[in-house]
Amino acid sequence: MLNELDRLTFNCIKCGYCKAACPVYKEIGEEAASPRGRVRLIRGVYAGDVSLSQRYRKLIELCISCRACTAECPSGVSPNQAVLNARHHLAIECGIPLIKRLIFRRAMTARRMFPASAKLLGFLQRAIILQSRYSPARLILPILGLPFDKAIPYFQLKTFRDRMPEVIPTTNRKYRVAYFVGCGANLIYPEIGEAVVNLLTYFGVEVVIPRKQMCCGTPVFTSGDFEGATHLARQNLKVLSNLDVDAIITACGSCGTTIKHEWHDLLGIEVPSELTSKVYDITEFLTDCLAVSLSAHIPKAKTITYHDPCHLVRGMGVQNQPRKLLSSLADTRYVELASADTCCGGGGAYSIYHPDMSRKIGARKVDNVLKTEADLVATGCPVCILQLREMFSIARILRQVEHTAVVLNRALKEKSQN
Ligand code: SF4
Ligand code: SF4
Repeated sequence: MLNELDRLTFNCIKCGYCKAACPVYKEIGEEAASPRGRVRLIRGVYAGDVSLSQRYRKLIELCISCRACTAECPSGVSPNQAVLNARHHLAIECGIPLIKRLIFRRAMTARRMFPASAKLLGFLQRAIILQSRYSPARLILPILGLPFDKAIPYFQLKTFRDRMPEVIPTTNRKYRVAYFVGCGANLIYPEIGEAVVNLLTYFGVEVVIPRKQMCCGTPVFTSGDFEGATHLARQNLKVLSNLDVDAIITACGSCGTTIKHEWHDLLGIEVPSELTSKVYDITEFLTDCLAVSLSAHIPKAKTITYHDPCHLVRGMGVQNQPRKLLSSLADTRYVELASADTCCGGGGAYSIYHPDMSRKIGARKVDNVLKTEADLVATGCPVCILQLREMFSIARILRQVEHTAVVLNRALKEKSQN
């Protein structure tokens, strides 16, 4: 493990190009909280000069895994990858907290238990009206270290995958694809899944939703539990490898990046290149493979802007495709967002573990959105949707935030009705 930390950080020339890109460093302004500072700390651990203290753990945990530093580094160092490995090292040396062990090792790795737990949570949320801003049940949140006004999305009582058949046919079939749904669309935002399926079948694509797919593992390895994430990756690999499909579609940049890169690069699993080359984000597939241009009208939105999810833009390299599709909508003005590819502060479970930092980073995004005067923000990741909606709600500003696929599907419906 220490050799891996050495390998990942050895080439750092301490130039500091990565610092300006780091959203956490921008807020704290302390060298130790910059990517370069974290790399130096990790090298210190390798050399035996830095102990696994609480301060070290905090600095390693404060990274939001946005990959911005990696994109800037001229020496090919990935501070982001080094930090994830440092968390794994911490998990090995100091253990994983019981609650995380229960969630990651027991609930998430059990194919039936995870959705069942989410449904139970959904039922409890409705029973104790946790969603209401003034519900007394919210008093539990500060006890758990969360802000009283933390947005908690409704978990679905029936998951998206439970609602759908395994195969959704189409007329004039051009392609047959597998849809890797991901936890966000499956458990919280089923409208994303519905939009993906509607768009694909409308444009002549048969969709298979493999029953045995599981979480891609991102929240698990982000917490340092590489063993739990490896279990999930191997289960998913078995499912995806045995399908007769032309492509694997995702509508979450983190799922796509994890399948395409992290299963191999981070977890060391052999993933056939025939499989990784088939992974497409929905907007990428619509533009690059189906040459879709909607020229349809989207109701109730005059100006649209787009926020790049970190893993979609820097992990999957998807940047132009959503913009092209959104710009093609009729009667709608597309405006570019300043610093569109800067993190929104969502970062998976980051907003739960580090609510203050998450909100500070998110507030910058809100400011930039307000400058565009857009009434709708499209994005390509369920976590970004959750974060942006929460940030606008805190600021008491009315803005629609939707997944790009949902926006396109709404335009398509409107087009079909006229
Ligand atoms: S991944 Fe993002 S938050 Fe983490 S060190 Fe790099 S730039 Fe900073
Ligand atoms: S990680 Fe890369 S960009 Fe950052 S200081 Fe080291 S060499 Fe420079």
